[in-house]
Order: sequence, then structure tokens, then C-alpha cells
Amino acid sequence: MNNFDLIIVGGGVAGSFSALLAAMNGLRVCVVEASNYPNGATSRSGGVVTRMLDNRFDRRLSKLTVDIFNKFIRCDCLKYGYLCIEDEKYAFADIRNYREEIPDIRVLGSDEVIDRWGFLRLYGDEVGLYAPSDFTVDPESLLIYLWNRIQDLGCEILRGHRVIKIVSMGNRVRFIELANGSRIIGDNYFLCAGPWNKFLIESIGIKWRTWLLGIPIFKFMLRGDYDLVGVWDEYIYSYWRPGDHSLIGGVYDAFDISEPSQGFARPSMQNVNNVVEGFKYRFNFDEWKLVKGWSGPISITKNYRPVFDAVDGFSNLYVIDGLGGRGLMRGPAVAYLLLKKIGIGVSI
Ligand SMILES: Cc1cc2nc3c(=O)[nH]c(=O)nc-3n(C[C@H](O)[C@H](O)[C@H](O)COP(=O)(O)OP(=O)(O)OC[C@H]3O[C@@H](n4cnc5c(N)ncnc54)[C@H](O)[C@@H]3O)c2cc1C
Repeated sequence: MNNFDLIIVGGGVAGSFSALLAAMNGLRVCVVEASNYPNGATSRSGGVVTRMLDNRFDRRLSKLTVDIFNKFIRCDCLKYGYLCIEDEKYAFADIRNYREEIPDIRVLGSDEVIDRWGFLRLYGDEVGLYAPSDFTVDPESLLIYLWNRIQDLGCEILRGHRVIKIVSMGNRVRFIELANGSRIIGDNYFLCAGPWNKFLIESIGIKWRTWLLGIPIFKFMLRGDYDLVGVWDEYIYSYWRPGDHSLIGGVYDAFDISEPSQGFARPSMQNVNNVVEGFKYRFNFDEWKLVKGWSGPISITKNYRPVFDAVDGFSNLYVIDGLGGRGLMRGPAVAYLLLKKIGIGVSI
């Protein structure tokens, strides 16, 4: 007899939202997570959830994610409001594209932006596109909240247990084996191990086409009280989340890696110089200090689209992968869509 309806490998944003939505639907769920505490890409990420995205498909995924958060997540780790700074000539075209997914979006003239957030610097014809219902989230607190929620729903989380083997017969996975030798049996299996998926899938003889990158990110402490807001800087491609008297973010400075552990490397001096330059370009704080820098691994596909489907040749093995640098925005939505695809619908 199977112990679980659904076994999920990985407790990042993809695995945790899959578990939450499945458990809310009454499924017996088990999450196997290699770490004792949140420690994958999700917990190291910037935490930006915006629908102000050029790609329509991504915008729709992000909209679905925002809907899922609004319906199911009650965590004070969310801070609403996101501001995109860009040239006026692009802002008016963008707002037309974005309005369908973000009805409350509006353009703020440079004076309005500076009146409200005097610590920002705007140049030339720049204006702000402001989405009050987009948000940023402290990703580590979000995962702790989700892990508690899914446990309260009766879901089992095996923390500190690494899956080392997927054992199948014909087109069905029979069980997964953990590093301590125990076997976990379920009806269905979701691989939500982010950049580690590649190695699990290749261990069952399937060539898995994702590429891995490391992304550096930094924390700047600020002296003084500011009404901070999440910011996307379209000119230098930097993104920022407000923390407690701090801003967390970075410029897009990804580096190639061949295995996930390399994605935890300390940011280089070049990364530090780039982010300080980006920070000084956009912000005008009296006193600030760069206090911390870290990196995290992500996986991307050739066309940058996420994968949320059955693994080729298997009837009960599924994978969520290729969330790239947008996993907070894409992860909850693709978890929902994958569950729906296999007949587990949750109404939102
Ligand atoms: C610096 C940085 C900033 C980012 N900023 C943003 C942002 O602002 N907004 C946004 O939308 N996205 C952002 N991203 C991207 C986002 O973080 C990722 O796309 C997303 O977290 C991927 O989620 P995941 O659940 O697929 O993987 P992960 O969060 O990596 O989770 C995978 C989990 O699987 C576990 N695992 C691995 N192997 C095994 C195994 N064999 N057995 C058991 N468990 C295993 C790992 O421990 C890990 O917890 C950022 C990423 C980085 C690195």
C-alpha cells in the first residue's frame, strides 16, 4: 500500500506551493528536503513578485501567483507596492500592455516619485510605473511560514533528508530512496529540486536540458527612517526589496556554474563594485553601508520558459524546473497549473 498520494522532492518555492495546494485539496503529501532549514535558491533570492514583465506568458504566470498569494498567504513577510523606473517613452507603451494583469497600475511623474520617495534619483525623462498590488517578500520567512502551514495541514516534511535514488519499474516510479537507506512510496512524485533536478533526472538515464547559473545579491543597511519600496531600475537592470532599515538586491551579474554548489560562491570583487555602482546610481541615502553579499544557484531552459510537466517516459513522475531568475513569480503559478494538469484542481 502506498503511504502518500504525492511525494515532493525539494522544499523551495516550487515544492512548498505544490505541497500547500495539494494538502489543501486533501492529499496525503510528503516533502523531502535535503536541508534542515530553507537553503535553496528561494531562501537566497531577492523576493520580488511583480507582474511588470515584458513577456506576456510570464506576466500571466505572475498574475496567477499574485492571485494565489492573495487567496492563501497570510504572512507579514509581504510588503505591497512595487515601482519600476523607466524612460517616459517606454512607460506609456508598457502601461498599456500591463493594464490587463495589473488594473491598479499607474504612471507617476518624476516629481511625484521624488515627493514620495526622496531617496530615489531620477534622470532625464524618467518616470515611475507603480503597481500598489505587486509586492516583495522576505523569502526565508515565507518558506518558514509555508513549511509550518503545510505541516498544520497534515503534510509530512522530512527535513535534512536527501533523495539519492529514484527507483522505477516500467513507466512508473515505485519509490525514492533517501541517503539513510529508507524508501518512500507514493502514487505520484514531483521533482522540485531546482538546479538539483538535473542530476536526479539524469540519474534515471534521461538527458535533461537545463543550464545552471549563480546569481549574487547584496544587503545595504541604511541609517534613518525611510518609507522604503521595492524598486526595479530599467536603466541599469537592478532590483531591490525593502528590508528592515535595509535594501536587498542586485544588478544582473549572473555567472556560469556546472553544479549547484558552485552557485553558493561568495560574490567577486567585480560583483561588489557593480552593485555599489548600481546602488549609488539610483539611490540618494545620506548614510548607508554594504553589510552582506551572497549568491544562489538557478536553472534555466533554452527558451527561458519554465518546465512543469511529466518526465518523458513516466506516468507518475513530474518536474518543475527552469524557473530561472523569476521563481518567486513563476513557482506558485506552475505548481498550481501542474496540479491542475494531473487532475488536482484548487479553486482560486
Ligand atoms: C540571488 C537570487 C535572487 C533572485 N531573486 C528573485 C526575485 O527577486 N524574484 C523571483 O521571482 N525570483 C528570484 N530568483 C529566482 C528564484 O529564487 C528561483 O527561481 C526559485 O527560488 C527556484 O525555486 P525552486 O523551488 O525551483 O528551487 P530551490 O528554491 O532551489 O529549492 C530546491 C530545494 O530542493 C532541495 N533539494 C535539492 N536536491 C535534493 C535532494 N536530492 N533531495 C531532497 N531535497 C533536495 C534543496 O535543498 C532546495 O531546498 C532569485 C534567485 C537568486 C539566486
